[in-house]
Amino acid sequence: MPGSILLNDRLLRSWLRCKRRAWLDRHGDPALRQWTAHRELQLDEQRRSFATLFPERPGRGEAAALAGAPAVVGLRLKGDGVEAHPPLLQRVDGRSRWGDHSYRPVMFRPGRRTTREHRVVLALWGQLLAQEQQTSVRSGLVLSGSGRGLQQETLALGGSLPRQLDEALQRLAADLGQSTPPPLVADRKKCVLCSWRAACDQVATAEGHLSEVSGIGAKRRDMLLELGIDRLSALAAADPELLAGGLLTYGEQHAEVAPDLVTQAQVQDRGEPLRRDPAAALPELETAPGVLIYDIESDPDARDDFLHGFVRLPRNGDGRWPDGLQAAQAPYHPMLALWEHGEERLWQRLQRFLAAYPDWPVLHYGETELLALVKLAQRQGARERDIQALRDRMLDVHQRLRRHWWMPTNSYGLKAVAGWLGFSWRQKGVDGARALLWWRRWRLGGTGPQGRGSRQNLRRIFRYNHDDALATWAVAQWLHQQDQA
Ligand code: SF4
Repeated sequence: MPGSILLNDRLLRSWLRCKRRAWLDRHGDPALRQWTAHRELQLDEQRRSFATLFPERPGRGEAAALAGAPAVVGLRLKGDGVEAHPPLLQRVDGRSRWGDHSYRPVMFRPGRRTTREHRVVLALWGQLLAQEQQTSVRSGLVLSGSGRGLQQETLALGGSLPRQLDEALQRLAADLGQSTPPPLVADRKKCVLCSWRAACDQVATAEGHLSEVSGIGAKRRDMLLELGIDRLSALAAADPELLAGGLLTYGEQHAEVAPDLVTQAQVQDRGEPLRRDPAAALPELETAPGVLIYDIESDPDARDDFLHGFVRLPRNGDGRWPDGLQAAQAPYHPMLALWEHGEERLWQRLQRFLAAYPDWPVLHYGETELLALVKLAQRQGARERDIQALRDRMLDVHQRLRRHWWMPTNSYGLKAVAGWLGFSWRQKGVDGARALLWWRRWRLGGTGPQGRGSRQNLRRIFRYNHDDALATWAVAQWLHQQDQA
């Protein structure tokens, strides 16, 4: 079993996601760790899920287990060099040292599928619980969703799981015993939810890690490594035709993108944007009297687009477009979509607002806004002709940017591109997850003297949404300036 470092379920979970993460959790500089809203969001979801299964408050600790409470929290389990703190135990049939009942661990699963990470951690809880209650734990319970959407899955803890757990703990102990951190995870999409992301991003940039090249995920990185291309500068120096030949082994679709990958790497290496298509990226801005900049905030799990925000930006009197400072002074119109007001009311408000500026294009970044608005119009029974008119007005700045420019950024997301152009958000370190957390807190904030939770949360969401709209303008304005140049 594990050596001198005390292992626990949190380290194991981190390790199953990314070996480097577990190492940093144990040995990293805490000052480099950033708070992320994802964990808070997940804990909120977990609380709701558990409360659906057990509406009564669970019992706490050993005393509750002895008393045979249907649900128990706060039990710390200890084994040989490893400890765990399962968030919830459910009473089941079977004798244990606590009496004519025993317990099994309950896990909340945020995503859609039960993965190895869930199974192995549940197996650890089961193993330590079996020692504690002195009777075997045959299964664990995996919950997802809450309320009427609660799903329960019983997971058998036998078979090869104990062996997998044993191996994982030994390898975790070995990794934690190293003096340097394991390499960055191959699939850096996983980093989005990680509190070490900023620190690892710096390492990735300094190393010229291939994942830094926009368009390269874990699989392509492996292919490139096999072809002897191990970093960004090597990709930038590669011959596109030779690379296409090498990538053909993995399929035509990979060979086809070879020239694009090389150009993207060159642009990032040089740190300068490069025009991709000589035609104007935003010809609509030549004649438009003004633009509406549109950004939606959503709760993806609840399929709820809860905020439709607009910045109304008329052209200046001298015919020029407002710069960033002027745009920041332009009116911002947040429209909250509260389900208790009904979708019809929201649709009417949106229609009235859009109809007041008939010749103004609606700028947005990414396809979310177009898809959401069209679906809303369809649900509200809008005529096909009106929906088409709506489509024609919508102008996806992200799509235009991708079509017309190579950018020296590791992503074409709004944060990366607008940030590179010098735009800064008023609230530091905020992302969609944080806005969602504020929203849920505001919605579930109770009916105390403050009404619906804290107004401060709502103000923060508006500010974030407003800034995203202004960031979209920063990119659009840059595109327009390049068109004119
Ligand atoms: S940011 Fe990514 S590479 Fe770094 S520890 Fe987290 S998951 Fe691993």
